[in-house]
Amino acid sequence: MDKIIFATSNEGKMKEIRLILGDLGIPVLSLKEAGISVDIVEDGQTFEENAIIKVKAIRPYTDGIILADDSGLEVDFLNKQPGVYSARFMGEDTPYTVKNQWIIDQLSEVENEKRSARFVCCIAASLPNGEILTTKGTIEGIIAEEAMGENGFGYDPILFLPELGLTTAQLDAQTKNEISHRGKALSKMKEKIKNYL
Ligand code: IMP
Repeated sequence: MDKIIFATSNEGKMKEIRLILGDLGIPVLSLKEAGISVDIVEDGQTFEENAIIKVKAIRPYTDGIILADDSGLEVDFLNKQPGVYSARFMGEDTPYTVKNQWIIDQLSEVENEKRSARFVCCIAASLPNGEILTTKGTIEGIIAEEAMGENGFGYDPILFLPELGLTTAQLDAQTKNEISHRGKALSKMKEKIKNYL
């Protein structure tokens, strides 16, 4: 096994992924780095379904381990929106400053108890023997009253972690990895795939 391909083109995610999988001693390549270009239709109803759709779409291009994640923000007050539509919510090209402000505006006047939200991440692995494994991680918080922080990406400036008094965009990369949805799901997956390397 000479490499793992992680089925994403999101550089923000790849940074987090490399920090966690870096010590496996095997290169982890993004789709771009692996020279794979494929349009994947993510039409699953759940994060898990979408993660599995992604690894299956890459299977024809490699015989190594393929990993993929599907993740997003669930806001309880908005019936768990944007959920699996997090990337496409309000349009793929709409800046996150606009998406984040829209969510904040929907929750103006809403008390803290009803502002609960979380990032969810499911990781799928497609193994050379045809097996598919999945893991899941979450990080719970509340929607901030204003966007704060410059780190991370996407909805990070609006997920406020009351016990730390910070949004996930105010965490350094190492700390975010230790406690984030993706960090938790990926660490669980790392343990599982170690047996196959
Ligand atoms: P995916 O690439 O289909 O998994 O879409 C994930 C989308 O969910 C991202 O484009 C972000 O909008 C959002 N998201 C997932 N994880 C995070 C995170 O750690 N911080 C901020 N936004 C996230």
